[in-house]
Amino acid sequence: MQIAVDLHSHSGYSGGVGKINLNAVATTMALKGIDVFGTGDCLHPAWNAQLREQLQETAKGIYQLPIHPHARFILQNEIVLTAPLLPSSRTRKSVHVVFLYPDFHTTDAVTCLLKKYKAKNTIGRPFVKLGSPVEVSRFLENVIDAAPDVLAFPAHAMTPDGIYGSHNPITYMEEFFGDFTNHIRLIETGLSADPEMLDRIPECRSLNFISNSDCHSAALNRIGREFTLLNVKSMDFSGIRNALTERDSILRTYEFNPREGKYFGTGHRKGKVGHTHDGIFIEPGTGNGLCPICGKPLTIGVMDRVLELVRTQKRPVNKHLSVRQFQHLIPLVEVIAVGLGQKSVSGKRVLKLYQTAIEACENEIALWQFPASELMSRLKDLPEPVVACILAVQANRFTFDPPGYDGEYGQLKIQVN
Ligand SMILES: [Zn+2]
Ligand SMILES: [Zn+2]
Repeated sequence: MQIAVDLHSHSGYSGGVGKINLNAVATTMALKGIDVFGTGDCLHPAWNAQLREQLQETAKGIYQLPIHPHARFILQNEIVLTAPLLPSSRTRKSVHVVFLYPDFHTTDAVTCLLKKYKAKNTIGRPFVKLGSPVEVSRFLENVIDAAPDVLAFPAHAMTPDGIYGSHNPITYMEEFFGDFTNHIRLIETGLSADPEMLDRIPECRSLNFISNSDCHSAALNRIGREFTLLNVKSMDFSGIRNALTERDSILRTYEFNPREGKYFGTGHRKGKVGHTHDGIFIEPGTGNGLCPICGKPLTIGVMDRVLELVRTQKRPVNKHLSVRQFQHLIPLVEVIAVGLGQKSVSGKRVLKLYQTAIEACENEIALWQFPASELMSRLKDLPEPVVACILAVQANRFTFDPPGYDGEYGQLKIQVN
C-alpha cells in the first residue's frame, strides 16, 4: 500500500506560532493528500493532554479525529540534545532529533525519563543537556529501553542545528551521537538539502532518507511542503516504522529545491557593512572563504558544508544500492500565485483557483502525478498562465537564481515555454 507521510511538525507550543487546531490540520491534509501526519510536540504536557482528549486510536499507533476519517496521526516530537563534542571543550553543540512513538504509554515513559535528566520540557521541543557524546548515546539508548518501538532520527541534517550543520563542525555523526550512531537508519533531508546533496556525503549513502515539512502551521503552503511516499505492508505504527527503516520501502521523497533556502550558498548579502548596494554570492567550491569585496569571512552555505564533508570523510563506505527517487516541488498555492502575478498565497482568487484545481484532481499530491496532457485537460477551467506555471513546475522547469545565501531566500524563476 502506497501512502504519503509528513512526520515532523510542531504545535503552538514551539514558540513563535499561533495555536494549531487539529481539525484545521486534518482539513489541509485532505486537500494536500497527506495520509499520515506527525502530531509534533507530543511530550509537551498541555499538547499531550489535548491529543489524548481529541484523538482516538483506530489502528495500533494510528490516531484519528472522529469527523475526519482519512486524516491519520502518529505521535511525534523533536528533542534538542546539547553536549560538548570533546570532554575538554566548553562550547556545547545542539542537535535536533525527531522521535516517533507507538502510543501514549511510551510518551509517558519518555516524559518520566526527561524528568530524570532534568530536561526542560516547558516549550514544544524538550531540551536535554548532556556532558559528552557518550552521554548523548546513553540518553538515546535509555529512551529505547524505556520505549522499545520508538524511532529516532536526526532532523534537518544540514541546517545550522542539524547534525552536519554549520554550527556543528563534525566530520562523522559519531562525534556527537557516540555509539548510538550504529542504531541510526534514517536521516531527514530538511528544507535546505535534497537526496542528491546528502548522497554525496559518504556516511549518508547507507542511510534511508525521509523528507518532512517541519511545519508550524496548518496552512496550505506549510503542511506537506515536503513529504515522503512509502510502501507499507500495514497501515499501523509498525507498518510505517518498518517501511522507514527497510531499504526500498521509501518510494520517493518530495523536496524543496535547496537553492531556495536562506543558507544554500556562501556569500555576503546586500545591506551588510561594506555591501550597501550589492550582495555577493560565491559559487560553491570556489573562493578562499574571504569576501573579495569587504575582506571579512563569508557566511558559509550548506552546499560548501556538503563539499567539506565529501573531502573529509575518508572511511570506505557501502554505496547505496538503489538510486533514490525524489522530486523538487513548490506548494501549489505558491505556483498559482506566481501564475496570477500575485505576491500573497492567501488571496481570494488564489484560493478559489486552488479549490477548482483540487476538485478536478482530488488532492494536490494526485495533481502532480497526472501525465501533463491529462493534467492540462483537468485544469481547463484555470487561466492559461496559471496552468503553464503548474506544468513547468511539474516538469521541473524552475530554479532559484540567484540561490539563497547569507539569510536571503533564493529568487524563484519558473521557465514557462
Ligand atoms: Zn528542528
Ligand atoms: Zn563582504
